Amino acid sequence: MGDEIKRHRWGKPKPPEKRGYGKAHRKIRKQLFADEPYCRECAKHGKQTKATHADHIIPLCLNGPTVRSNYQPLCVVHSRSKSGREGAMMRMAKKRARQNMRGAGNE
Ligand SMILES: [Zn+2]
Repeated sequence: MGDEIKRHRWGKPKPPEKRGYGKAHRKIRKQLFADEPYCRECAKHGKQTKATHADHIIPLCLNGPTVRSNYQPLCVVHSRSKSGREGAMMRMAKKRARQNMRGAGNE
């Protein structure tokens, strides 16, 4: 029941190609893991964790290009913590935009 409501609210997810995860993404991802099989964030802390996530350094929503130099390998933990931060940033930006709109409407 809960799932049904969620699906209606958010609609259908876009196909991967439309979000920039097409053929080029898959090719780069493969190349990335071949070059750097371990998480780059973990490496900063002297740890070796197998990377499972091809992360966009500049996110697609900020027009980050789908090129090898814009990718970094991350483990599950670091890919999650990074997208969590980006999600919070987006929410803040949207909230601010809404407040600005409301302010203009009240005049
Ligand atoms: Zn990591």
